[in-house]
Amino acid sequence: MDKNGFSWLVLEPFVHAVVRDNNVLLYNTLGKNHLLYRQEAEITQIVRQLIIPENGYVAKLTTVELENPRVVRFIADLRKKFMGDLFDPQWSDSRPFNIVPLPILKGGILPVEQQLVEVTFQVNTSDLPDLKTYKEASRQFTFPVFADSPCQEMPVDMIRSVAAQMETLPFATVNFCGTGILDDPRFGGYRRIFGKTSFRRKYHVNLRHLIIPLTFIPGKNEHLALYFTFPPDQQQLDLLQLAVQSYAKHPGVEFNFIVQESREVDYASELISGLGIKHAGFKPYLNGENIRFFEDQVFMSESDIYGSKPGRNEVFSRISMNQNDYGKLTIFPNGDVYANVNDPLLGNLASHTVAELAGREHETGISWKRRRMDVEPCSHCLYQFLCPPVSSYEIMTRRFNFCHILR
Ligand code: SF4
Repeated sequence: MDKNGFSWLVLEPFVHAVVRDNNVLLYNTLGKNHLLYRQEAEITQIVRQLIIPENGYVAKLTTVELENPRVVRFIADLRKKFMGDLFDPQWSDSRPFNIVPLPILKGGILPVEQQLVEVTFQVNTSDLPDLKTYKEASRQFTFPVFADSPCQEMPVDMIRSVAAQMETLPFATVNFCGTGILDDPRFGGYRRIFGKTSFRRKYHVNLRHLIIPLTFIPGKNEHLALYFTFPPDQQQLDLLQLAVQSYAKHPGVEFNFIVQESREVDYASELISGLGIKHAGFKPYLNGENIRFFEDQVFMSESDIYGSKPGRNEVFSRISMNQNDYGKLTIFPNGDVYANVNDPLLGNLASHTVAELAGREHETGISWKRRRMDVEPCSHCLYQFLCPPVSSYEIMTRRFNFCHILR
């Protein structure tokens, strides 16, 4: 202890600190480890001091505070995890200088249209009965749209116009999603429009709607996402087997199994291992009656959250934006454009350019910048910067806690 009766406590700049109520979470974004203190008023008070912006992660601790056993343990914990340390004020009369890194929004650097990273064309809507079973799927992940109303087709000229507006983007992913698109006579047109760009092109197709023989072969920068739905019939199983054989040498082809209950997960797992599918994934489908399945299979636990070990950039991005949606637009066959299809319409391509609509979302939209700290109950939760960004499932159901932490 120094002669002045105090020491400076300095928190490392790669530590992320959150205080909620009387609880404290410190997360080391380099070491990916954490310290958690619940209902320890002394610790809460110190960390509150540290995170006041003008204090810059530096707090003055008095001799009395430093003799408190809880504070002694806190300092020892910080040292053990390389999260912070005490500085003797004899080294410097003034508060030690510390850099507290702050997230930088790309919006301050790039024009907004340059921030577009993904455009999804929903090239048609369909009233096919098998799609009706999954009529909410397109609100949860990229999937063909079911429509009760007359089916719509996106004019190829609309795709051409958007492509011309995106020409100058450094890099983007372009998704094409729809019923039967691979066998649509206009498909060659879509491919050619983007054929000379460096954009990644991904075609999203329900396996049920493939037509034998499978003539589509992914070219350079092309990917295929196939979706397997339940209940499977023999035709779909045959198509799956054929697709697995046909695309075995194409790493850009992925197989997604849309599951609504545990036995579908088991069945899909058997298919994946039985057929030796390398690029397989599950897409849980929320049908309005299977929230228990989501609780069992999808909801995050405390160990899932810590186990995800987000790095510094991920934590910063969660403070600034929604990484699931940021820079992404979805276009419907009638030209309607959304930043997230569960949020209000941004506008229509008949009266706005892509850049104008991206600018509208950037300035006043709610999807790209939706953070957990803005929604209930996450805003009260210690894990708001460790949890993955708000998902479309949550936006669709207006329930922002697909977790076992806060109910
Ligand atoms: S309440 Fe929100 S921030 Fe907290 S754990 Fe659940 S989802 Fe994550």
